[in-house]
Amino acid sequence: MTKLKIETGTKNPILRAKSKPVKKFDAALRKFVKDMREAMMKEEGLGIAAPQVGKNIRAFIVVMDYNKKSERILAMINPEIVTKSEEMEEGEEGCLSLPGKFAKVMRHKEITVEFFDLDCVRQVLNLRNLNARVVQHENDHIEGVLFVDRLAEGAIIEEIDVKRKKGDKDGEKRI
Ligand SMILES: [Zn+2]
Repeated sequence: MTKLKIETGTKNPILRAKSKPVKKFDAALRKFVKDMREAMMKEEGLGIAAPQVGKNIRAFIVVMDYNKKSERILAMINPEIVTKSEEMEEGEEGCLSLPGKFAKVMRHKEITVEFFDLDCVRQVLNLRNLNARVVQHENDHIEGVLFVDRLAEGAIIEEIDVKRKKGDKDGEKRI
């Protein structure tokens, strides 16, 4: 296991770059995804994208169906959000790369995402609510976008002591 360092800061060039597609679905990619998963679980996040651990490639992992029986972790490689509902939904977000910051962000309520799994098999998922939110947040990361870029004018960014906040109610999970 390689311990990955989490990149932080709104001006961090790695977090601000547009990431490149993954070309090789090999053992190195598997290992990298495994290490990302460890980093996410250590931080109790609901998702983590490759740029957050220093690699500008189009890959992220997400927790789907958080806190339900069907909860599972998925790796999405070269994802594309192909449909977005007109209906939007507001929800609180935090980010492992912006420690202690939380704010309400508008996201599409439902999306369809196409991606490749680690075996290079194309997958399509229709997602809604928190699942859709997590994927939109992570997809932003591979485009160099952070949730603070998406706040409505005058929106409040809450600053919270991260250590005290860890593991609190799911609205405050970081992605
Ligand atoms: Zn994030």
